[in-house]
Amino acid sequence: MADKALRGRHALITGGGTGIGAAAAQALAGEGAKLSLLGRRMEPIQAAAIATGGTAFQCDVTEAGAIERAFGEARAANGPIELLIVNAGIAESAPFHKMTRESWHRIIGTNLTAAFDCAREAIRDLLESQNGRLVFIASVASIRGVPYAAHYAASKHGLLGLARSLAAEYAKTNLTVNAVCPGYVDTPMTDQSVARVSEITGRSSQDSRAVITNMNASGRLVDPEAIANIVLTLCLPLSRDINGAAITIDGGTSA
Ligand code: NDP
Repeated sequence: MADKALRGRHALITGGGTGIGAAAAQALAGEGAKLSLLGRRMEPIQAAAIATGGTAFQCDVTEAGAIERAFGEARAANGPIELLIVNAGIAESAPFHKMTRESWHRIIGTNLTAAFDCAREAIRDLLESQNGRLVFIASVASIRGVPYAAHYAASKHGLLGLARSLAAEYAKTNLTVNAVCPGYVDTPMTDQSVARVSEITGRSSQDSRAVITNMNASGRLVDPEAIANIVLTLCLPLSRDINGAAITIDGGTSA
């Protein structure tokens, strides 16, 4: 039987306890990766760690010191970071004229500045690996505007700029840097978006879910496992020439 493609390789996933991060953990563990799962709440990362044989590390990625500490603990437990999946993110919505500076800073801080901090913290490890992989979970909001979510779209556009720039800068190394750009995915984040639509419009939860679902051209939500499958593919040694890509998984929304 063929050996597992990622056997023994250390993958660190931010926001690894829920949604896309937890699905990515399952997919990478299935190919033998050693996992470090980070998040603010211990319960989901511990559950995901138990399910995947990984290790949970509490970390609020908006605090640079917390990243340094958690990445250090992850390194001590699992060795140099060879695969970094920058997935932690938050979403909020508001009409632009009501958007607050606090909300702007929260979104940019979590989705963009923290991604910079995580990438910088791991870059030496990633460059020393034979097949280093840096995967940013971006969004279709990285390539198109989003009404009522200017801060979110700005953060995700920035994330794609970061991914492409690092891909270009390190093109001659063994590291690849890519962005995965999902449409609406069936995760807790989308549940929160549904709840916000209900709250603002007074629609039922079912109708609000239909509103969100129909924002994907396919008229259905993307499965988190479908995103995880692309993350896994990007991490395989054979994917070494996929670099600087923005891979949309959105049922045709950005076509
Ligand atoms: P979830 O809400 O399930 O996942 C977000 C994860 O990020 C949670 O596990 C959360 O854990 C973690 N997180 C949030 N803030 C922080 C923080 N400050 N420090 C550490 N961890 C944090 O939703 P998804 O799985 O959908 O989201 C994952 C990524 O996918 C996000 O970047 C999102 O923008 C992106 N995405 C999602 C789409 C969707 O439709 N759902 C579409 C396109 C992109 P905790 O709260 O415990 O910290």
